[in-house]
Amino acid sequence: MPNRKDLIVGVDLGGTSMRAMVVDTSYQILGEDKRRTQAKDRPRKLIEEIADLIEEAVDKAEVKWSAIRAVSIGAPGSVDPVQGVVRHAPNLGWHDVRLGSKLKEILGVPVLVENDVNVGVVGEHALGAAQGAHDVVGIFVGTGIGGGIMFHDELYDGTRGAAGELGHMVLQVDGPKCGCGRRGCAEALASRTAMERDVRAAIKKGRKSIVLDIMKERDQDRMTSRIIQLALRRRDPVMRQMMERAQYYLGILVANVVNLLDPECIVIGGGIADRMHEDFVKPIREVAWRHYLQQRDAQRIKILAGQLGDNAGGLGAVVLARHRLGS
Ligand SMILES: [Zn+2]
Repeated sequence: MPNRKDLIVGVDLGGTSMRAMVVDTSYQILGEDKRRTQAKDRPRKLIEEIADLIEEAVDKAEVKWSAIRAVSIGAPGSVDPVQGVVRHAPNLGWHDVRLGSKLKEILGVPVLVENDVNVGVVGEHALGAAQGAHDVVGIFVGTGIGGGIMFHDELYDGTRGAAGELGHMVLQVDGPKCGCGRRGCAEALASRTAMERDVRAAIKKGRKSIVLDIMKERDQDRMTSRIIQLALRRRDPVMRQMMERAQYYLGILVANVVNLLDPECIVIGGGIADRMHEDFVKPIREVAWRHYLQQRDAQRIKILAGQLGDNAGGLGAVVLARHRLGS
């Protein structure tokens, strides 16, 4: 049993669920716990719940608290990693929440906080699809679209810590309304939320589709990645059309990124990519290639599905903590 102070707890804090994993120096997960995020709770209550989640994961790992060196959290929204503050997280209803210092008070170990997509990219760079590449861009497609940039093996934060918001690159001026209040962002065209909006609109107009039946069968009120996958397997024409449209816009997004940064690797992560892998990524890649300004050696830029799935955030948070605390 590890008793030196060399374990780190990685936490993936999402708007719907949260997960903590105890990870050793060779990135083995010794124990983990997962539960729903009660986003309606006040920040103080949710922070206590996160502390409880972490303690449960440590229990399950059957290690002593004294072996825990730090806790590292990937949190949604805009984050100030230096202060450990979540500036603005709409899906938690948080504004300027001192997550790092509050958790540290409860747990008595150092707590690091970083944006959830950034830690996902760090995870894929160190342990997943982008291993060996130095310049990496991650695009995570889920209810929204998040992005993260690694430049020369380091996270690129930007002047105000606001870099990498690829989901809000405008791909269609005056296009559909985005969650951010503007129009035509990638997120408003190609996220799962956008696909669901378009599927429902098509059905309302009288198009035949089994998507709503599958949702009913599965007792889901949202079009999850699982529902998307099932509808595509059953060759639902509406689902196929909306998926192709989303992949087209993601291809344009990838090409814009390539024309700007010419990175070595672009990792497409998130629930749909985790389930569909190459079926999701291949059409994106093909659209992207057509829109590269520099066509020479186009295939040198790897466009790959993420490999770590659900673990990308938690493991990435641990990698980042080791890096920032020094190993
Ligand atoms: Zn937007």
